[in-house]
Parts: sequence; structure tokens; C-alpha cells
Amino acid sequence: MNKIKYIPFLHIHPEMKLEMLNAFERFYDDQDYILGSRLEKFEHDYAKFIGANHGIGVGNGHDALLIALKCLDIGPGDEVIIPAHTFVATALAVVNAGAKPVLVDVNEENFNIDLDKIEQKITKNTRAIIPVHLYGNPCDLDTIEYIAQIHNLYMIEDNAQAHGAIHVMEKTGSVGIINIASFYPTKNIGALGDGGIITTDSSELAEKAKTLRNYGKAADGQYSTIGINSRMDEWQARVLSIKLKYLDQWNEERIEIAARYTSALKNIGDISLQYTMMDCTNVRHIFPILTKNRDELRGYLNSKGIDTLIHYERPIHLHEAFSQLGYKKGSFPVSEKICETELSLPIYPGLKDDEIDYICHHIIEFWSH
Ligand SMILES: *Cc1c(COP(=O)(O)O)cnc(C)c1O
Repeated sequence: MNKIKYIPFLHIHPEMKLEMLNAFERFYDDQDYILGSRLEKFEHDYAKFIGANHGIGVGNGHDALLIALKCLDIGPGDEVIIPAHTFVATALAVVNAGAKPVLVDVNEENFNIDLDKIEQKITKNTRAIIPVHLYGNPCDLDTIEYIAQIHNLYMIEDNAQAHGAIHVMEKTGSVGIINIASFYPTKNIGALGDGGIITTDSSELAEKAKTLRNYGKAADGQYSTIGINSRMDEWQARVLSIKLKYLDQWNEERIEIAARYTSALKNIGDISLQYTMMDCTNVRHIFPILTKNRDELRGYLNSKGIDTLIHYERPIHLHEAFSQLGYKKGSFPVSEKICETELSLPIYPGLKDDEIDYICHHIIEFWSH
């Protein structure tokens, strides 16, 4: 068996290469590099895919969230509720908007924000809740939306890891008032570089987002507000339009890979797996297993030529950058436990059955020693 990489980009659908090279030639010749027709096309196609009226392409997922917060006039003095276990970008965007992230622990079974712990964190300064569909797994949006409504808060979905996931008949990323996704290369649909998008049904918020991403320049050409420079490149929009055609099929493959892992690993050692809610489709951005023997298992798999990663080494509150939030070790025990025990197994479209079986075989072998 050859070495199994965590994500071998060049192995993913080689047939796409010719399509990309042709697209690059047209891109080069068209001399239209920023805010052109290809971005508009991708924005339209992605919004339609997600089930939103508008898409606004931006430089990356962090900026998408920053702009979404600014569209809702969330800033200094405001608090925003986020899960303690997420990628740093979720917390960073809140801080960069001038607001304060208020952390809530995650649920032990689905690894998403713990529904029973949200309300106790709501204060008179709370403006929004940002559910993160972690590892591709939909949050319970009905309950979160209900909590948001009774407390008069906005719900903003961080859909960076769950493009195409389904929450009871609707795509995740289409339920909040304004929502974001990232197209970082490793995501379920990734650019050849950075990219992100804001989606919303509101024409007013969409106009605001377009103004904010382009220096604050409004549709009438006037600089009407303090914006930033964060526009999705035409080239990345072209790349993403090509990849969008394959997204559902790739997600299907991820789901099949996860099912094969699940049936082999569900009763092995002390392994626990991520639970997906009924009527939801988890698009398996990451396949996490939790085990107390994480570090030893990781070393063992590495010695067998199997790459793994950890998502994430620390929860938000234990990063030095967020020490000013005033939390300490022990503040969010479930998030801390996940970070201490999580191991991400290879999962990508094109991973073969015999490779999955080889990985599972060695995980089972590890426990027989
Ligand atoms: C990837 C990611 C982002 C944003 O990523 P960028 O690298 O800025 O595109 C935001 N939130 C989550 C949960 C992510 O995984």
C-alpha cells in the first residue's frame, strides 16, 4: 500500500485538470480580473445551490463573517455567541468586528454548540448567535432559531465546513438572516487559493455586503461607508464554478467513505464517533474519531504510512490570542476533551475502499496489541 496522504490534491479528479487549464487560458485572454462577469455567475450559481436569493463573493471565509457582522451593525459593545470548539476564524471575525465573542461549550455527541447552554449566556448586549456546522454536521437550526427569535437575536450560520449539508429539507447556510462559507482549498469545495461567500435572502443586506467588500463604495459610485478590500478574484470564481458541478457527487463520496469507516470502527477500543441528527445530512468535511489513546494511535498509523490530522489542537479559549476573554482551562470541558482526544482520518473524494479498509485494519490492529 502506498502512503495515504490526508488530502492529496492532485489525486482528486484528474479529469478536472484540462477543464481548469482551458479556463485559465480564457481567464488570461479576457483581461477581466476583479469584479467581473465570472464572479457574478458564481455568486448566482452558489446562491441557487444553497437556496438563497443573493451571493456576495469575498476574499476568504473570515472576511465573509466580518462583513456579515458589519452588515448587521454588530460592533463595539456587542456580544456574539459562538461555540468554544471551532476554527479560530469564527472567533477572530467577531473580535475584528469590534464585538466580544461569548463562548458556549459543545455537545458531547454531535460536537456542535450545546443547545442547553446558550440561553444562560445571553445578556442585554447579545446581538447574534453563530452556529458552526462542525466537520460538516448540521446544528439543530430549528432550536437555535427559536432561541434567537425569543431573545430578538440574529442567527448567522458559519457554513465553512458544510457546503451542501441538509437540515430538514433545507441546505445549511440558507436559514440564518445572513450566512457565510469559506472556499479554502481543503474545504468540501475549495478554490485554488483563498475565497469566501456571503449568502442572504435580503436585497438590502446583499447591497450592504457588496459595498463593504469594495472599500465602502456603494452602487451609485460614492464611498458611503468604511469598508474593506475583500473581493473574490475572477480566477477563483471560475475555478469554483467548475468545481460546483461536482460538489453533490463529492459529498456523496464523502458520505460513503464515512459509512464504511463507521461500520468498521463503531465498536473498536474506546473510539467514539460523531452523531448526526435525524433528517440531517452530514457532508463529512472531516471524519473525527475520539479516543484517549489519540497520540499513540496517531504515531502507530503514521508508522504504517497513514497521514492523520487533529482538528483542533485547542478550543478557542485556550489560545493565547483569546486569553483576554477571561476564560480558563476547565471553562468548557467538552470542547477541551474533544481537542485532547480527536483524530481526523483521511477523507476525500477518490479515497478508495481498499485504502479505507487498510486504515481500519490498522486501527483495529492497534487495539489488539
Ligand atoms: C475555514 C473556516 C473559516 C474561514 O476560513 P478562511 O480560511 O478565512 O476562508 C471559518 N469558520 C470555520 C468553521 C472554518 O472551518
